[in-house]
Amino acid sequence: MNRQTVSRKSGERLGGWRLEHSYARLPEPLFTRQAPVPVRAPHPCLLNTALALELGVDPDFLAGPEGTAMLAGNSLPPGSEPIAQAYAGHQFGHFTMLGDGRALLLGEQTTPDGRRCDIQLKGSGRTPYSRQGDGRAALGPMLREYVVSEAMHALGIPTTRSLAVVRTGEPVLRDTVLAGAVLTRTADSHLRVGTFEYAARYAPAALESLTDYTIRRHFPVCAEAANPALALLEAVAVRQAELLAKWMHVGFVHGVMNTDNMALSGQTIDYGPCAFMDAYHPDTVFSSIDSGGRYAYGRQPGIAMWNLARFADTLLPLIGDSPSRAATQAESALATFANRFQAAWLDGARARLGLLAVEEGDDAMVRELYDWMREAKADHTNTFAFLCGRAMPETAPFGRPRFRSWHARWVARLAHQPGGLDAARERMRRTTPAIVPRNHIVEAALTAAASHDDFGPLRRLLDALARPFDHDGIPAAYRQPPPPDSPPYRTFCGT
Ligand code: AMP
Ligand code: MG
Repeated sequence: MNRQTVSRKSGERLGGWRLEHSYARLPEPLFTRQAPVPVRAPHPCLLNTALALELGVDPDFLAGPEGTAMLAGNSLPPGSEPIAQAYAGHQFGHFTMLGDGRALLLGEQTTPDGRRCDIQLKGSGRTPYSRQGDGRAALGPMLREYVVSEAMHALGIPTTRSLAVVRTGEPVLRDTVLAGAVLTRTADSHLRVGTFEYAARYAPAALESLTDYTIRRHFPVCAEAANPALALLEAVAVRQAELLAKWMHVGFVHGVMNTDNMALSGQTIDYGPCAFMDAYHPDTVFSSIDSGGRYAYGRQPGIAMWNLARFADTLLPLIGDSPSRAATQAESALATFANRFQAAWLDGARARLGLLAVEEGDDAMVRELYDWMREAKADHTNTFAFLCGRAMPETAPFGRPRFRSWHARWVARLAHQPGGLDAARERMRRTTPAIVPRNHIVEAALTAAASHDDFGPLRRLLDALARPFDHDGIPAAYRQPPPPDSPPYRTFCGT
């Protein structure tokens, strides 16, 4: 879809918006109707032109006053039915009632290529689920979600995306007074494990409709299965296994894998306290509130499995009338997760090392590299990126004998494959990123934008993050790990 096609349609449909709202047809306990609270002075900060075009929405319209008003919640796109979704969730293992406390689902846009896509405003004012919160969001964290979610998308990792960030012209009070903003988030849906936990606990009569809806929207083949609820559980487990393997390969630490932050579609959701690992270590934690390391990098697959077990709990009455038989069936469906995760992880690791046909000793070679990275505190992204290049750096830790010995064996292993080392490196460069959004670099760009109104560094960073496999084109400054004397990076929830 090019810009002109969209523009032509924009007259008829106000910017190309054509929202429907299948979610609002579900039973009422699952949501509350709620209008956005208008803001004083909407001002555009970031607009995702490529995503607008994918949605069939005119980027020029969005950038203008009418479009900006919509992206701030001061007016509504045609077809909107703003609702706050009800959900619950296990937060750090404890069940809590939650819901959209500062977000509103406006509706679903059908893209020109036929996909249904949720359009959600985040930071659009209080809702019945706001508890003590102000319903608002600060500019810095919304820009951060924009940057990291778009980087994830470019890395080929399923994720919610960011259409725009609009400043509100109103202050928000956190530890200090900050500029307020609204983020427009898109998603395959906002159905979460926590949505089912809410229904199972507080609206059991709606559970069956919610299950049918989820199947229709994301896993239509499950409707044909002998036991659709069981098939849904397995399908969600498979998507999560594939997602988790992808996170692990790029060193992504989600940081708050509560069940309300696990999307059933298999997209990454909630960019609050997430961060990317520099030096490789499975115990890596960034979130200031995760003192026990529950959501540490290396624990993520196990936590995903724990969350899926909470999802399974909600489905048991639909899986079968006999609770014990349903539990056994659910357990075997859940076992899919571990197998699929292992297979997806190993496939990805092999691809990153350029390995074609499976040979004896491959698994040990992969494991040895990870063991070495941990011991040497090697930079995760750069270790793999260097392996795609023609020469490894001679500097520490790559000049040390243990790595040299591993490297020589790896080169010998590749040499007798079809195409040898050169062909392997060519393939590796297509799946190994040269850049991830490194924390210190993202922070510097966010500070320039949010504190000094200088969006230049952020735009340049976004441009580089949009082409992570361009090994020759990424500026060297973006590839540098943080200086060795930097304090540990910390992230925060409730931003
Ligand atoms: P999160 O940590 O983003 O997963 O959010 C947990 C819960 O807190 C969700 O129910 C959010 O909607 C809610 N929440 C977070 N920030 C705010 C806020 N500023 N105002 C109201 N609710 C909020
Ligand atoms: Mg959340």
